[in-house]
Amino acid sequence: MTTPSAPSMDDTENIPAPLRGCLYCHAEATISVTEGRKLFGIVGSSLPTLTCSECHSTALFEAGEDVATWRIKYRSVNRSARFYYVMIHLGDAGWLTAEEAMQASLNGFVQRQRVQQAKRGNLSWLSPAPLDAPPPLMAPDELVYLTAASAVIAQAAKSSGVLGANEDNVLDSGQFYVTDRKVHLLGHRRDWSHRLSDVARVDYTENDWRIYVGDSNQYYQGTNQLDQIDAQLFTTVVKALLKTGEPADEAENDPT
Ligand SMILES: [Zn+2]
Repeated sequence: MTTPSAPSMDDTENIPAPLRGCLYCHAEATISVTEGRKLFGIVGSSLPTLTCSECHSTALFEAGEDVATWRIKYRSVNRSARFYYVMIHLGDAGWLTAEEAMQASLNGFVQRQRVQQAKRGNLSWLSPAPLDAPPPLMAPDELVYLTAASAVIAQAAKSSGVLGANEDNVLDSGQFYVTDRKVHLLGHRRDWSHRLSDVARVDYTENDWRIYVGDSNQYYQGTNQLDQIDAQLFTTVVKALLKTGEPADEAENDPT
């Protein structure tokens, strides 16, 4: 049953990934292991704790039968904006299997690169393209950068001055697009469309993104979905598109 992996020049292959480097911030060789104390034989209390000297995250680690099977549960993590993805999918996720944790870590690494690229105005990785059959309010040559399968348009409640008394009125819901010049919601009631120049502000939380349009506090909103671009990256892309302004026919003025 126990077939040791092929002899390797590099014995780090026999060390589980979370002990080699930080799954959360991706720093190498920053993990220290504190052996858990067995308190009155309580299960779980004897698990070792991993601490990263770079991002200061701590996690409980449970070794498995071999180097590739283990479980990890983050206990405290760095919640700064650059760790948005891993904060949600590692930090707040409870116990994760090796496979789940490695996937979330990889996705988090890619997401962080994408956010940086978008901040620099590089959106080519989105492969923007026109829709085959654009809806009536979308020009045939509009380039679609983002699609959200499900979004709403809502009217923010008049500020009553009472904290939390926000009974926002949802006007419609449907598929949402961000193009090089407009945002579009193909709603169940009608099609909604606003020029990027009508966007007043863009926000995101751990759960959703919002794009406010016009001056009447109307906004489009979408919720984080597992297999879609998350709210942080979504809003970063929208902000990048706002910066490029009106369709400047591919005029890329990247100083680099
Ligand atoms: Zn770290």
